Amino acid sequence: MAKIFCVANQKGGVGKTTTTVNLAAGLAKIGQRVLMIDLDPQGNATMGSGVDKRTLELTIYDVLLENASIAEARVKSDKLIAAGCSFDILGANRDLAGAEVELVDVERREKRIKTAIEAVDSEYDFVLIDCPPSLSMLTLNGLCCANGVIVPMQCEYFALEGLTDLVNTIKQVHANLNPDLQIIGLLRVMFDPRITLQQQVSEQLKNHFGNKVFNTVIPRNVRLAEAPSYGVPGVVFDPSARGSVAFVEFAAEMVERIKTM
Ligand code: ATP
Ligand code: MG
Repeated sequence: MAKIFCVANQKGGVGKTTTTVNLAAGLAKIGQRVLMIDLDPQGNATMGSGVDKRTLELTIYDVLLENASIAEARVKSDKLIAAGCSFDILGANRDLAGAEVELVDVERREKRIKTAIEAVDSEYDFVLIDCPPSLSMLTLNGLCCANGVIVPMQCEYFALEGLTDLVNTIKQVHANLNPDLQIIGLLRVMFDPRITLQQQVSEQLKNHFGNKVFNTVIPRNVRLAEAPSYGVPGVVFDPSARGSVAFVEFAAEMVERIKTM
């Protein structure tokens, strides 16, 4: 059975999408079968995986409205296939912004992604969901179907503050809607060890959250930032870059983690 993870943090620009696409590519590289779901109307994870969001005929929006199944709506990226790092992509574009409103009155709205994934569950080891920068209906939909949440965070002064809202939301979803849900871990991203404050916040995180903090640390690395403009994850764009190596390590850490879940 596939393990389902949301990559979430309501703060914008903290590295959710970079984490989602590079973890997906890293997992594919070490032989895992992955479905990547873009749950953000910005469609960055879609574009960053080499799929043009503007030309997509079916997206997660159609799956949420039950107009299409995942088997019908998922696509592959030629660039990822060519690199030998392929994963399936359920894309998103602006259409998804409307889902927020359209889903307000429908039944089982928080269960729709879960039901859709169940139909393809046996085809994957991992399902990774890239969430938008909010604790909106879309993020809730993601949390309702997930086994765990991966929280990318920068080791900055206000990082811990934002975490409280997210942790409370996860607790509520766990209590009311999805008893499977747990925080799998906090992933330190864009890390620069030369900055003392980052080291201090990193230590605080470890003291406070213990083994919920992943061992792998993702360094700040410009190659990861350059990769999206080529329509591939950094892991594919420049496999030997420090950031890419770290994401493949993180993929291996995730494979180990799910053995204990
Ligand atoms: P949003 O909240 O808008 O969805 P996000 O949390 O998905 O944003 P990303 O888009 O992944 O964040 O990253 C924000 C910016 O930081 C991007 O320009 C990305 O290329 C860059 N970035 C992410 N991780 C790294 C890293 N480890 N090193 C250098 N740049 C990074
Ligand atoms: Mg994003």
